[in-house]
Amino acid sequence: AGALYVVATPIGNVADITLRALHVLGAVDRIAAEDTRNSGQLLARYGIAKPLIAVHEHNERAAAARVIEHLRAGERVAYVSDAGTPGISDPGARLVDAVREAGLAVVPLPGASALTTALSVAGDWTGTFSFLGFLPTKTKQRASQLQQLAAHTQALVFYEAPHRIVETVQALADAFGGARRLLIARELTKLHEALHRCTLAEGPTWLAADANRQRGEFVLVVEGAPQAEPGAEDHDALLNILLEELP
Ligand code: SAM
Repeated sequence: AGALYVVATPIGNVADITLRALHVLGAVDRIAAEDTRNSGQLLARYGIAKPLIAVHEHNERAAAARVIEHLRAGERVAYVSDAGTPGISDPGARLVDAVREAGLAVVPLPGASALTTALSVAGDWTGTFSFLGFLPTKTKQRASQLQQLAAHTQALVFYEAPHRIVETVQALADAFGGARRLLIARELTKLHEALHRCTLAEGPTWLAADANRQRGEFVLVVEGAPQAEPGAEDHDALLNILLEELP
C-alpha cells in the first residue's frame, strides 16, 4: 500500500522548501492540498504538476476517505497546507488520524513553521513554551482563556492575524500585567520581516505608532508567569491542612 507524506512548505520565502520536500512532491502520484490553487502555484514554481485533491477544514473527513482509497490502490500521496507545517493551526491532523486508523503509513517531512521560526530567535526566556495558536475572537472567551493562562509559567506562543493584533496584545497586557516580555514577530522570512522585543505594557503603543507595524502575519511570544517562590507550595499545603482542622 502507499503512504501519506505530510510535507511542510515555506511560510513566505519560497526558498525555504527542503530538498526532500521537492523530491517527494515530485515523486508522489497525487498531492492533497488545503488550497489547490495556492499550492498549484507553489508547485508550478518548481515545475511540479500532479493531480490535486482539496483537503481543507470543512471537508477533511470526506476528503480523507478519498485519500485513503488512493493509498489503498498503492498510490503515494503528499499533503501540503497553505503555508508552513500541516497540523500546526492548519488542517492535516484529522487526515493523519484517518490514514493511521486505516492501517496505512504516515511519513512526516519537516520544514518551515512560523512557530519554530519565531522561537528560534525569541531568546533565553522561552526555554519551555506552550503553543496556543489563535486565541478566540470573541472578547469574553478570549479574556477567560487568558485568565486561565495567567499563572502558567512557560512562555506562551500565539498566532494572530493583522486586523486583531493591537486588540490581542492589549488583551494579553490586561490579563497578564504589563511587565512581562513580549516578542512580536511579523512577516517572518518575507520582505517586511520584523522582530520587536518589548514589554506587554509597551506592545499596544508600539503597534499603534505606525500602521505598517500592524500589517502582515504575526507570531506573539509572551514570557510566562514568574515561578512561585520556593516553599510557597509548602505554605499552601500547610494552610490546607490547617483549614481542614478549623471549624
Ligand atoms: N501551519 C502554519 C505554520 O506551520 O506556521 C500556520 C498556519 S496558520 C493558518 C497562519 C498563521 O501563522 C498566521 O496568521 C500567523 O499567525 C502565522 N504565520 C504564518 N506565516 C507567518 C509568517 N511568515 N510570519 C509570521 N507569522 C506567520
